[in-house]
Amino acid sequence: MAADMFAASSNNVVAGIDLGGTKTTAVLCRPDGTIAAQVTIPTPAKEGGAAMSAAAAALVRQLEATLGQRVLAVGVGAAGVIDQKNGVVTAASASFTDWAGFPLAADLSARLGAGVVIDNDVNAFLRGEMSYGSLAGCSNAIGIMLGTGVGGALALGGSLFHGPRGAAGEIGHTPGFSTLRCSCGKIGHLETLASGRSIAQRYAERSGRAAGGAEQVAQLARMGDAHARATFETAGAALGQAISTTATLLDVQDVVVGGGVRGAWDLLEPPLIRMLKDNMPVSGYPLIVHPGNLGSSSAVLGSAAAAWATLDPSTIPATTMKEGSSC
Ligand SMILES: [Zn+2]
Repeated sequence: MAADMFAASSNNVVAGIDLGGTKTTAVLCRPDGTIAAQVTIPTPAKEGGAAMSAAAAALVRQLEATLGQRVLAVGVGAAGVIDQKNGVVTAASASFTDWAGFPLAADLSARLGAGVVIDNDVNAFLRGEMSYGSLAGCSNAIGIMLGTGVGGALALGGSLFHGPRGAAGEIGHTPGFSTLRCSCGKIGHLETLASGRSIAQRYAERSGRAAGGAEQVAQLARMGDAHARATFETAGAALGQAISTTATLLDVQDVVVGGGVRGAWDLLEPPLIRMLKDNMPVSGYPLIVHPGNLGSSSAVLGSAAAAWATLDPSTIPATTMKEGSSC
């Protein structure tokens, strides 16, 4: 294709990619968080790391052609445990083939001829909400994704805190919430009560009736079904307990909740807030739990923010987490 097709432009863009177990979404993003172009395809999760990377690269090329612009850098939020420093997927669920050990950042960078930074998808969600969403201006926060499972992320002092093995913030797999077996094989984790899958299972156990998913349980709760209401009471209280413990330990005041179960915020919030009120942090500052407001775009926007952060700040408008803010 002609070189002049990608003429230099003041409207710089980066790519943000959300690479999940079922679908991959790519966006081209302006410095202010505006999405200039977007595309989603099914993830070729069974075809291996190289196929998933090639598919992601093809999406970026397609969007570049649409806009007539090259990306300056690429950010990816991927499912699994990610070695962010080395750009490698460390561990992945069974829905992926040949994903653990895959050097995603180096492979995608070679395909696109641009710098690539990768992170876990829940970290990308938290970064998105802190850069462009409900936590804009915050330096310290806890992010919780209530999807099929329960994911967590931490930001401290203006940066994502990854931990030495990239697994910091995994609030879903903290114990003491039930006597039920978790998706990870252990007993009693938060995820056994608060994930979308668990909410459907716990409702089925209580009521003796199967539910299609958490969304259906939420509809039943809103219509007054006592078992459905009790299921969300338990989930919200467990979530509040986990948030209270984590926030007390870290002296973090702001929490954002996203993921599919965020759609049942009207049901989760009352028991969650009751639990937080009963467990005020010793600082005396009440916790503020924000429902995420970027919806399904949080991870692509967070990945785009991570891409901007890799570029020379003197040439690019500052967009990412600001230090020294009130929260
Ligand atoms: Zn677990």
